[in-house]
Amino acid sequence: MAKRTSIFARIGKPQKGWTGNGVRNNVSVCLEQEAFKHTWKLRQTIVNLESEKRSLLAERRNLETKAMHGWTCMSRKQVYSIVMLGIIMTAIVILVPPFFVVPFISGNLPLSTLDKQTKLVSYLQEVQVSPNIFLAVHGYDHKCPIDGSTAYEFTCPTGQVPFEEIERRIKVGIGIFKNCGLEIDSYAFPGQDYNQRVLYVLSNYSPTASVYNKTKLAGLRLTANSSLTDPIVYYGFREYTWMWRDGVSEKRFQDTLNQLYEDKPSLLLVHVQDITNQTLDMVKEYALLKGNTGIIRLDDITFDRDVPATKQIVDLAIAYNVSLLLAVIPASPYAGGSNSYFPSTIFNALWVISTSLFVFPTVVMIPWAIIFRTKKRKPYAKWNPHYPVVSIILPAYNEEKTIARSIERGLNQRYKGSMEVIVIDDGSTDRTYDIAKTYADKHANVRAIRLEKNQGKSHALNMGFAQAKGEISVFSDTDSVLASEAISRMVSHFKDPEVGMVAGMVVIGNEKSLLTRLQQIEYLTSQTIIRFCQSSQKNVLICPGACTAVRTDIARKIPVTDRTITEDADFTFSVWKEGWKVCQEPESVSYTEAPANLRSLIAQRKRWLYGSLQTIAIHKWAARKGNVWVLKAWLECFLSPFALLFIASLPLQCLFLGDSFPLFLLTYGLLPLAILGISGGIGVRLFNRGEKSKLAFLMPLYAAYQLMMNLLLVYLVFAFVSRRGIHLMRGGKIIHAV
Ligand SMILES: [Zn+2]
Repeated sequence: MAKRTSIFARIGKPQKGWTGNGVRNNVSVCLEQEAFKHTWKLRQTIVNLESEKRSLLAERRNLETKAMHGWTCMSRKQVYSIVMLGIIMTAIVILVPPFFVVPFISGNLPLSTLDKQTKLVSYLQEVQVSPNIFLAVHGYDHKCPIDGSTAYEFTCPTGQVPFEEIERRIKVGIGIFKNCGLEIDSYAFPGQDYNQRVLYVLSNYSPTASVYNKTKLAGLRLTANSSLTDPIVYYGFREYTWMWRDGVSEKRFQDTLNQLYEDKPSLLLVHVQDITNQTLDMVKEYALLKGNTGIIRLDDITFDRDVPATKQIVDLAIAYNVSLLLAVIPASPYAGGSNSYFPSTIFNALWVISTSLFVFPTVVMIPWAIIFRTKKRKPYAKWNPHYPVVSIILPAYNEEKTIARSIERGLNQRYKGSMEVIVIDDGSTDRTYDIAKTYADKHANVRAIRLEKNQGKSHALNMGFAQAKGEISVFSDTDSVLASEAISRMVSHFKDPEVGMVAGMVVIGNEKSLLTRLQQIEYLTSQTIIRFCQSSQKNVLICPGACTAVRTDIARKIPVTDRTITEDADFTFSVWKEGWKVCQEPESVSYTEAPANLRSLIAQRKRWLYGSLQTIAIHKWAARKGNVWVLKAWLECFLSPFALLFIASLPLQCLFLGDSFPLFLLTYGLLPLAILGISGGIGVRLFNRGEKSKLAFLMPLYAAYQLMMNLLLVYLVFAFVSRRGIHLMRGGKIIHAV
């Protein structure tokens, strides 16, 4: 009732003269409904306008960023469509080799004929003289010419094989046998494959007289005068061990054995692929049961590698005097396939894990980086940047060779605002401080601060932040050289009040040897693709110590710590945790000195990779928040062993596959390599309008380099998880990081 009165209050009391209660009530209900309708509409309009206002504001921010830097944030819709595209592409990459490429190539490979299997042929010649061993031609290549299925050869379920083709296959198959000097005792159809047409053809190629000589096998003479009834029924044909290649349970074995005793089949069919100890036991039981009235048929003998299994059955047949029919395939594709399903199941699982781990981020990030970057960027002069006071902080420990250059680079920055250079000498034992002091004496905007004791880089940086007069602090290494516009470009991002930290672009300056060139590819791709994509969401995970700008008051509130061995990564996470946006300025280049030999490279990477592990472990909140970049880092760490196992399993797979290994390597090895190559090539090209494009030629070697890094990562993950930790040199002393 309360609502009703309030409506009355708004529309006024009923007029005099409205006497009938019914009338008054009808009118008031009508008015009430009308009023509700209007209020509801108005509210709806307000909600719509508010959301419109929000999206307009977001758009305005984007336009402002675009006006300044040339590109905008990705919209949610764009991100979703790129991710969807990535999922589809990854699925294609995973499914194409096993389902399309391998069957296609193996279906079109030239066939290898029986005469190439020299060990097998000479073994067959040798055993054929035994009175109870018989040889049968098992089709031509045990494959339907219409649909490629291997269950039948002459009667394909999907279509009728032409008469001429049946004739050709039988003729060629028998010819191959004869060429090998093998006597043909019978013809054994692949599968349950026979019909009148096939039998008619076969009658014209009636096997040799030996079939008739070996009268014990009369039942197997499927020649011109043989019965046309189903041989399975006719002979009491049974197979118990199909697909026993990976073993069966003891119970299943016992049940099958009981079935065998019950059936007492006149013919026991066994496949050479299934010869295991259990299958052999079953065959032995059959031999005991039937003695010289039994017939064993061993199917699908194809390759030299089938000799050992064949020999086991042959020996058994001779020992128990059972008749044995060896059904041999005259021609077979090179792609034989493993006899066991187990390794291929493991292999497929590894393939799916490692491919999705590596392909998915690649196919998502590359279009992302390309779409985002190709939006034309204004020349820097038109960026309308802003010029806060900047402090360049140079922590230095025993850097007498490079300190002068670093200070000069700071002084020679093309920057319209005012700036200062602060050298923090971290207790050097050489002339670092003296050199810095001479600059400080000459230039009003250079300061040299000396710490008596070496206390580590993070302490030196905090000291610098405390002393800085600038609104923005830029920190760099003394082994890095800032390009002249580096600072002005980085600093312009702080026009956005939500940006707290900006990463520059670190490029290798001493790109002379193969090793440094390979590192250059890695630097460029990881920054032009991965960090760039992170930056498009203003969520850069690691701002490099070699070139980074941060708001000074943030740095004073959040000190740099040495709880990890990569203080720059830890610091970036901490700044980001406080809700600041962190982005990258790809044209703000700092040239750094990369390790020139393998030993120092590994030492450096040990620190970086282990430090990243420490960082993501300290900042678990980031993963809990569901940040995709952090989740990707976690996944990479803990799935990298699987990727390595996959690569290691490739040669093992080759052992299993025998002749077909080139095909196998081609699809499973080259496809990921091609994706790595293309992504690296694109990543290198994206830097500075293709300045380093030539490096793309090194991509094949880069794959080996990546493999080495992966190996190192697996080792470090192990050291981290097992809490063994690593030993490394830092600031002149050996430390143990856990
Ligand atoms: Zn077969």
